[in-house]
Amino acid sequence: VVAATAQLAQRTAEAAAHEIHIETRPVPRRPVAASVAELVGQTQLLRLPLARVLDGVPEGAEVLAKVELGNPLASSKDRPALFMLRGAEERGQLTPGTGIVVEATSGNTGISLAALSAARGYRCILVLPDNATPERVGILRAVGAEVVQTPHQGGYAAAVARAEEIHHATPGSWFCCQHENADNVRAHYESTGPEIWSDVDGEIDVFVCGVGTGGTLSGAGRFLKERRPSVRVVAVEPEGSPLLSGGEPGTHAIPGFNGGFIAATTDRGLIDEVVTVSDADAVTAARRLACDLGLLVGVSSGAVVHACGVLARRPELANQRVVTLLPDTGERYLSLWARADAELAGTR
Ligand code: PMP
Repeated sequence: VVAATAQLAQRTAEAAAHEIHIETRPVPRRPVAASVAELVGQTQLLRLPLARVLDGVPEGAEVLAKVELGNPLASSKDRPALFMLRGAEERGQLTPGTGIVVEATSGNTGISLAALSAARGYRCILVLPDNATPERVGILRAVGAEVVQTPHQGGYAAAVARAEEIHHATPGSWFCCQHENADNVRAHYESTGPEIWSDVDGEIDVFVCGVGTGGTLSGAGRFLKERRPSVRVVAVEPEGSPLLSGGEPGTHAIPGFNGGFIAATTDRGLIDEVVTVSDADAVTAARRLACDLGLLVGVSSGAVVHACGVLARRPELANQRVVTLLPDTGERYLSLWARADAELAGTR
């Protein structure tokens, strides 16, 4: 240790003696944000070489992916959370400083709502089934949410019923209800859609989008189709619960995708095609995005990229510009990756 330390000290002295020349370049000036809310949106597109992450995809096939982990709470849900809070404030349903936000969710909407509520001085009460992972409950509490749990046997419906009860029993509270809230869709119509359109300079042929509440697809999809009616909107849903394909509700392991029903915020009229993806294919694609491209995103991101691969294998789509959206960070699923990787290793 002594010898190594002496060697390091000598190298440092040599480096200092050698004048290190560093040039600075001007970088564009951006405004200083006044709150976390001002950091929401303006995420970038990333070119994904599909053949590097999916087998059997033609060399050269690529997709442009909007990387939503660039939002302050690391998911696309920052956008609707902010728009829904602002909408409630404008309607007088929330009073800055004293309001109370109530929602039934264990997902990204809860994280975004809790953090943005904290920034605005609101209490935030989130109701979730008692089988939500400790990881998930920990994140919600870490951003200031009060967590109420309902028996998981009652599913999402039990959580909604309890949230409604809490809302009615709590004066000054507002029930967000993202599945019915028009501001969820508006967020993507006013931010996600215009950002994509501007960043591709109007050159987009296909928009591939996962569906949970349908807010992203309905808002961004509508904006893009209004600008360019030929844009093909492809919805991605779980094979285990293929509702938009006309199938039965079921269980699946793609967090953020449908909770067994088609939400009122889903505009089915915009959808040109539905691609279903299995849980295993979604996880595999997400692992490859992380390990082959260094892009640590969630399971639903794996699902939409897998769907892009299905499209890329069709010859007629060879020269089309495909854009998709990767909803969240893969840091939220660490225990799942560990399990998936162990299973994969076991099959080799
Ligand atoms: N993926 C993830 C990880 C999500 O949190 C969500 C939001 N529920 C979605 C996909 C689907 O987005 P949307 O609700 O806008 O359909």
